[in-house]
Amino acid sequence: MLHQRSAHLEAGDPVPDPLVMSSVFALPDQPEPGRVYGRTASPTLEALEARLATLEAAPCLSFPSGMGAYAGLLMATLKHGDSVLLLSDGYFAARSLLGDILAPFGVTVETCPAQHIETAVLDTHDMVIIETPSNPGLYVIDIARMSERCRDADALLVVDNTVCTPLLQNPLDLGADAVVVSDTKAMGGHSDVLMGHVASRDPALMERVHNVRSLMGLNPGPQEAWMLIRGLETLEIRLARMCANARALLPVFEASPNVSDPRYPAPHPQAADQGFLIGATFADAPTADRFLSLAGFAPTTSFGGLHSSGDRRARWGDDVAPGFLRLSCGVEPIDLLVENVKTALSSL
Ligand SMILES: *Cc1c(COP(=O)(O)O)cnc(C)c1O
Repeated sequence: MLHQRSAHLEAGDPVPDPLVMSSVFALPDQPEPGRVYGRTASPTLEALEARLATLEAAPCLSFPSGMGAYAGLLMATLKHGDSVLLLSDGYFAARSLLGDILAPFGVTVETCPAQHIETAVLDTHDMVIIETPSNPGLYVIDIARMSERCRDADALLVVDNTVCTPLLQNPLDLGADAVVVSDTKAMGGHSDVLMGHVASRDPALMERVHNVRSLMGLNPGPQEAWMLIRGLETLEIRLARMCANARALLPVFEASPNVSDPRYPAPHPQAADQGFLIGATFADAPTADRFLSLAGFAPTTSFGGLHSSGDRRARWGDDVAPGFLRLSCGVEPIDLLVENVKTALSSL
């Protein structure tokens, strides 16, 4: 991915991708597919999508946020009368998008807990949407098994791969029909840009997604695309440190009498690493908040940034204990982070 551009440089070319701010492109003749107007194509977005396609080993289409990617994919694939099954304990906005926006258009929406989705009845559904590890419960779902079951049930399998990123897990290789990723999280990684993408190896599906994006105006701007390219170039080294920090912190939480039910995704051959998210339950909401402040974790929703952060999910209505924190490990020096967390836990 890093050498995608540098392999084709000519003397005097800038080494990084240039940021091209333009909504119009010279069009002296009859329009051909491609760069005619910013809503159908633009150079910096094309550069980004080429990078993403390398990571996914599949064509990719970018959107101005993860929810934009969901919207583009769902509008391109669902129709009146279709039925969708998704996690009851997955990312809440995906459930709201289907229930509040698409259900009134005649889409039936059903939910199932992550722990039971592998054995759920799928025959009546046209689409199944899973996240693995699920967010915030961090249950691991077997994607290959779900792909097989969805194929038998004639349902499209969509995997939200935001938590792992394509670097740690490739759902398309495991048989999923399409992938959605919020690039706002670890992909961008610097907590300064909202972006998302859809990936699929089904050309007809991607053509419909592209059509929806152009007609609904769901295009990211060049500046955002450029910022995401910049983030992607360090994805591998950021993830390595973030995952190492999570592995170092997990035993600290497990050993603390102030934490119950510490959670970390179970190891699974489908993913190259268990990731950088840890779930930890504290006595109550004030104790959880005090921990964040003492440990120097940023009290933010969202995850996957450079700074270790934590979100008390009950404040968003997730079905978790009031003192449950979803912690996102950042890229701080390992020893310093472990020391900070140990001190914070023992002073609660
Ligand atoms: C954040 C998130 C989304 C939505 O992405 P935005 O970029 O915030 O629109 C979707 N799925 C998961 C798992 C997420 O964490």
